[in-house]
Amino acid sequence: MREFGYQRAFDVPGAVALLGAEPEARYLGGGTNLVDLMKTGVERPALLIDVRELPLDRIEATDAGGLRIGATVTNSDLAAHPEVRRRYPALAQAVLAGASGQLRNMATVGGNLLQRTRCGYFTDVAKPCNKRVPGSGCPAIEGEHRNHAILGASAHCVAVHPSDMAVALAAFDAVVTYETADGPGELPLAEFYRPVGDTPHLETVLPAGALITGIVLPPAPVAAVSRYRKVRERASYAFAIGSIAAALDVRDGVVQEVRLAFGAVASRPWRAREAERLLTGGPVGAEAFAAAADAELAAARALPDNGYKVTLMRNLVVAVLSELSELPGAPGESGTTDLSGEAAR
Ligand SMILES: Cc1cc2nc3c(=O)[nH]c(=O)nc-3n(C[C@H](O)[C@H](O)[C@H](O)COP(=O)(O)OP(=O)(O)OC[C@H]3O[C@@H](n4cnc5c(N)ncnc54)[C@H](O)[C@@H]3O)c2cc1C
Ligand code: SF4
Repeated sequence: MREFGYQRAFDVPGAVALLGAEPEARYLGGGTNLVDLMKTGVERPALLIDVRELPLDRIEATDAGGLRIGATVTNSDLAAHPEVRRRYPALAQAVLAGASGQLRNMATVGGNLLQRTRCGYFTDVAKPCNKRVPGSGCPAIEGEHRNHAILGASAHCVAVHPSDMAVALAAFDAVVTYETADGPGELPLAEFYRPVGDTPHLETVLPAGALITGIVLPPAPVAAVSRYRKVRERASYAFAIGSIAAALDVRDGVVQEVRLAFGAVASRPWRAREAERLLTGGPVGAEAFAAAADAELAAARALPDNGYKVTLMRNLVVAVLSELSELPGAPGESGTTDLSGEAAR
């Protein structure tokens, strides 16, 4: 590992100014991804700007009735927060499905959004990789791609985004807030991650040097009846091979509102808008859920070894929506359903 500087920032403008003065600097959250990548030589920052002392560690109600989550809130605190568990249970479940207790105690919301892919070619500096070294090629397409993308990939990169948290945030229309030297800004999560195209090394549309200050969750009564389901190769401490965040509001057997986002199938959380469109206003039931999943997955382009993800995601849609449709207490019927007990397990 090459030598690097370390500085702790105590206010937001100070953190942004430090990064502005050193283009090779990186913000340091919990360090659970960045430091690993520094050890392998994938990341070689000249300076780490520690953001954990910034006053961004709170979860607060917004005037609009949603929640504002600070960028340095740890994953553990986010998952344990009573209002997150009550109003957005799938978000608490998604966070708890990731990593381990120790890692979640360190990992921050800002760092979780910007964690890098787990593609083995990306993390091995001896291998070519368009994401790490633009123009060097994508060996995963001909090589190891069992866990790679089936949606939205390109001939330049087929990696998936590894975050569980971001999948639930996508389902709930989260907005990312940030600060630059020019002032504050915000980006809907749906626009935050770039399509892969021929620039897989450019992962977000965040302006250069931007510090993520937090996430705003708009009010979403439907989110109270929501669930995150993750499929992985081991029961714990493993990244998803497919996941889903879903929320459902059913009245008199008719879908009033549905939210669906897929994880581990694309370079970003995949909001299943076509499936949502088909389901809204229609009946519940395995047949309708499967038809909606098929419509969404019609865009899938599998590689030789990851076609199983198409079937996996279809089955996840049917299973999770079926469970949600059988739950009592959809919004508007008898209030909200508290799934936080499940989140805590
Ligand atoms: C063994 C292991 C298993 C894991 N399993 C899972 C899993 O199953 N699911 C899952 O979702 N995740 C998993 N993770 C990943 C973990 O969730 C991330 O490493 C973590 O969320 C990153 O947060 P951090 O604060 O440590 O980020 P850091 O490592 O500090 O930073 C990550 C990136 O974000 C940037 N950054 C940090 N904060 C800010 C900010 N405020 N503004 C702008 N840029 C910022 C950094 O510069 C860096 O580029 C696992 C990690 C490990 C090591
Ligand atoms: S899939 Fe993306 S990250 Fe993996 S080797 Fe190809 S270009 Fe690199």
